Amino acid sequence: MDSSVYVFVEDLRGEGVERVLDRIGGYGVTGVTVGAVHHACRDVTPHGLSRLTVRHDAAHFTPPPELFAGLRLKPPTGHAGALDGLAEACARRGLKLHGWTVFLRNATLGVRHPDVTVRDCFGDRGSPTDLCPAHPDVRDYAVALARSVARLGVDSVVAEALHFNPQQAERSFVPLGPMDTYLFGLCFCDYCMRRATDLGVNAEAAREECAGIVGRVLDGEPPAQGEVTRAALTAYAGPEVVAYARARSETVTTLVSEVASAVAAEGARLVFVDSTGAVKGYTDGLPTPGLAAHDAWQLGVDLVALGDLVPAFGVLAYARDAARVADDVGAYLRSVGKDREVRAVLRPGHPDSDSADRLVAKARGAKAAGAAAVDFYAYGLAPHPVLDRIPAALAEAQ
Ligand SMILES: [Zn+2]
Repeated sequence: MDSSVYVFVEDLRGEGVERVLDRIGGYGVTGVTVGAVHHACRDVTPHGLSRLTVRHDAAHFTPPPELFAGLRLKPPTGHAGALDGLAEACARRGLKLHGWTVFLRNATLGVRHPDVTVRDCFGDRGSPTDLCPAHPDVRDYAVALARSVARLGVDSVVAEALHFNPQQAERSFVPLGPMDTYLFGLCFCDYCMRRATDLGVNAEAAREECAGIVGRVLDGEPPAQGEVTRAALTAYAGPEVVAYARARSETVTTLVSEVASAVAAEGARLVFVDSTGAVKGYTDGLPTPGLAAHDAWQLGVDLVALGDLVPAFGVLAYARDAARVADDVGAYLRSVGKDREVRAVLRPGHPDSDSADRLVAKARGAKAAGAAAVDFYAYGLAPHPVLDRIPAALAEAQ
């Protein structure tokens, strides 16, 4: 079975490429998924060079100038040179190399170019982190970025955040429910509204409806109860809003299609990872009831359509329960097509796996449900004794 461990460039810089690869190779995995382009965050790194690691919105290589010539958006450069020699070092060990790429989550670009970020139903650009996939400059950037990573000599480009994101305010003392939060997170920038209008949706009516509903909750009315489903959304916000939400998938599908073609033209392949599994279970490994594949539409991700365009998919199986992991993998395969490669991304320790047995059970569940690969997230975030659970999980998945 195919497998990999997610690795950050800070891990490679801290411990050195050879030492990290020796350790990872020792787990018995067949590959390494390296964070070639990442977003800003601060992480506890138990065996890192520093125990708290500050990451930046950055590409950790020198972007080929010809790919970005004439483009307004260029990736901020981080630890240029951090990946030098990595492809060769992987090849010497018989390890595949995958280039993990965070696409549209980049506050540095968003602050620099606010006009390319998402705009809510009130007309505010409140999420500098989120670049809008409908903006032509963002789309050009995504294609060039994908080509750049493919040229690093990777087997695949692993795409994260190549879709819309949910609204993520850091504080809210207003009890917004899932439904109101969803409406608050819809982008109504000029490009999104134009694309929806072209598909026959009354975009302005949808925007007014959203602003009315969310505005009333912000004014003190009780929020809607229950999870977001198309039926509940239709009842709460009306058909025009649902039609607007559905129109977002055309924006994402066409963008992913362009990126997949660009990656293939460079001799690599695209692994599409949608964030729904993380939205559901990131914090505690207790995902909300709907399976990730069934709720991916909320981010504009149409898995059935993408199944015809993308060779491989990663499922963020961030769950404690092995049965849930299996259910998520199975639902994914039914959506994208049984002949597609589905990779289950597992967290070997906190908060999903409290023992080696639990991780083994999840790897077994993923395989039984049809996963072609298991990936482990992530080297620098998990203590060594937790990473030492990986060989047993792989033995079970063979
Ligand atoms: Zn937009």
